[in-house]
Amino acid sequence: MAKRMLIMLAVVVPLIGVIGGVKYFQIRTAMAAGSSFQQPSEAVTTVVATQEPWESTLAAIGTVVGAATGAGVIPGAGIIPGQAQAAAQPPVSQAPYEYTRKGTSWESFSCGCGNLLQLSPAFQGSAITCKLCGKTTVIKQ
Ligand SMILES: [Zn+2]
Repeated sequence: MAKRMLIMLAVVVPLIGVIGGVKYFQIRTAMAAGSSFQQPSEAVTTVVATQEPWESTLAAIGTVVGAATGAGVIPGAGIIPGQAQAAAQPPVSQAPYEYTRKGTSWESFSCGCGNLLQLSPAFQGSAITCKLCGKTTVIKQ
């Protein structure tokens, strides 16, 4: 039994030594490669800065109008300034509101925006401006 153990050791110990030696040289080679490794140089580029005018206003705004087709192409897409202006600015009546006083006591009425406007008995003006929407209402005494 002891003889078989000795034979086993005689085979295994050199085997471990060979494996360890191979590993030692592998690691030493890797360390040598690492110490001589040079960082790749950083790529440096330049961009020429140019001045461009800032477009503060657009001459015309528009809405893309077109019919979707099966192919996903919109052949009729384009800018129609007339329609765009109508869509961007809903018509607002420029005429001022009017309110006729019923008496000389406190009176209140609703502005077009829904804000409640109050007139004191001392109110002598000819118009009142809503603080919410800024719309002027002409007061008729
Ligand atoms: Zn208002």
